[in-house]
Amino acid sequence: MRKWLGERSYRYRLNVKGVPGKPDIVMRRYRTAVFVNGCFWHGHEGCEKSKLPQTNVEFWKAKIERNKERDNHNYQILRENGWQVLVLWECQLIPRLFETTMQQVEVMLHDYCLKTISPKVKEYIRVDEESISMVAEAEYDYGE
Ligand SMILES: [Zn+2]
Repeated sequence: MRKWLGERSYRYRLNVKGVPGKPDIVMRRYRTAVFVNGCFWHGHEGCEKSKLPQTNVEFWKAKIERNKERDNHNYQILRENGWQVLVLWECQLIPRLFETTMQQVEVMLHDYCLKTISPKVKEYIRVDEESISMVAEAEYDYGE
């Protein structure tokens, strides 16, 4: 994923401390926090990989439930502060699905930019993607 982002000149930071939930990837210019979640530990609903062990079911259930509550709490804080939260599950990043998943990520990055940038800046946007990302970079330059 880092390689994918790098090849497309996206700027990002890894494991940023001081951001709720310590997202795996933070893209300040897109005001987007990306969490790459293990299906088991973060309780990916309806996923094969999130099946609980046969023993100590109650223990695991409670543990995963707590993890999920903590995750949701962190996501909420981020959203209240104007961040877009993208949760990617490990099962969506297997080689067969990786490209599709990342294409969706890209769409969401650009959509979120368009929704959140100021009307003044919006006037300058043309439809092509290149100008969108250029405007976004100008708007979201936090002096990295
Ligand atoms: Zn999964």
